[in-house]
Amino acid sequence: MKSTVIRPDALTVSGTNLEHARSHNRRAVLETVRLNRQLTRADLARLTALTPQTVSNITAELLDAGMLLAGAPLRGGARGQPAVPLSINPDGAYSIGVQLDHQTMIAVVSDLAGRVRARTERAVHRPDPQTALPLIVQMHDELRRASGLDWTRLLGMGFVMPGPFGVEGMTSVGPTTLPGWEAVDGAWLSRRLGLPVLLQKDATAAAIGERLYGMASELRNFIYLFIGTGLGAGLFLDGRLYTGGRGNAGEVGHMIVQPGGRPCECGNRGCLERYVSLRALYETLGVADGELATPAHLSGLPIAQNGERWLDSAVGPLRQAVNILESLLDIEAVVIGGLLPPDWLNALVERLHPLPVSIRHHDGERLRLGSAGRDVVALGAAALPIFDEFNPQYEVLLKNGRG
Ligand SMILES: [Zn+2]
Repeated sequence: MKSTVIRPDALTVSGTNLEHARSHNRRAVLETVRLNRQLTRADLARLTALTPQTVSNITAELLDAGMLLAGAPLRGGARGQPAVPLSINPDGAYSIGVQLDHQTMIAVVSDLAGRVRARTERAVHRPDPQTALPLIVQMHDELRRASGLDWTRLLGMGFVMPGPFGVEGMTSVGPTTLPGWEAVDGAWLSRRLGLPVLLQKDATAAAIGERLYGMASELRNFIYLFIGTGLGAGLFLDGRLYTGGRGNAGEVGHMIVQPGGRPCECGNRGCLERYVSLRALYETLGVADGELATPAHLSGLPIAQNGERWLDSAVGPLRQAVNILESLLDIEAVVIGGLLPPDWLNALVERLHPLPVSIRHHDGERLRLGSAGRDVVALGAAALPIFDEFNPQYEVLLKNGRG
């Protein structure tokens, strides 16, 4: 599977492509307003480092299109001009987020402020694209009916699933990736669903969700470790999502933490996800191939005996991974979350202390629990079309501004 999210190494990031720069700046303005809830144009110019004229043009466009709301002017503005506070108009646009994992497909429709306006869920069993597609269509129709929203303001769909994407010799094998998705990309899904679709890895979408709606909104540098069937990570560096050269940054599941350790389908031994993942947990519990192997089943289980055994085997490799990531990236925090039920996640994070000394050892909370709840990945997925620089539907909304 190919990731279609625009990557930072694209050669088009330059002042010569005016349309690109414009949409990039527009995204920066929207994201900054969203993170700060309410800002004046002067605040925006300061925070985005854009010129007042550019901010003025972009906010005028976004106000016309109904994506921003202007509040009552504040008194005492500089040079006698009252400053107008701008905020996101929740009903300015909508977006669908779909999270596909081995056993569950969750779909939400979120508004521009990131509120879930309708939600639906299906049980699945490692579906291939042909099986998943009719389900996605069903869920889309259900969201449209249940939300009653103006669907002409739908920007598109963000679709997320476990990575890695398109790594030769690594992707098509192994029980932690999903079968049959190798050749699928956003264009294929867009054609079949009739709306713009962006693909992303679940760990990356979780990091986006946590940054926009969760506890990471004040963190500029963090890594989100996503414990799913396998293990992945999403990175925010200097306040920006980092996806790497081919969109596979954060594939920490295949980082070797135990040389000569447990064999992994990737061909190496001692990979992190052979110790820290739902699959590793299921194996320890002896339910790896049974129907009992679901996060829902885990949440009803006391963490005794075999659960303790798994925690013991996961703690050493995970501590080492935290040390490596902190040393390499100088991040403020490692956020740990994913599909593991909260009591299991808590037990795991508690056991990680004391952490090995690292460059961050004087700082406060080096480890944090993911906070944005069960739908954080689907919400992160829904954010993808909203922040896509080339969203065609977005351009349509801007041109047909409600004025
Ligand atoms: Zn591996």
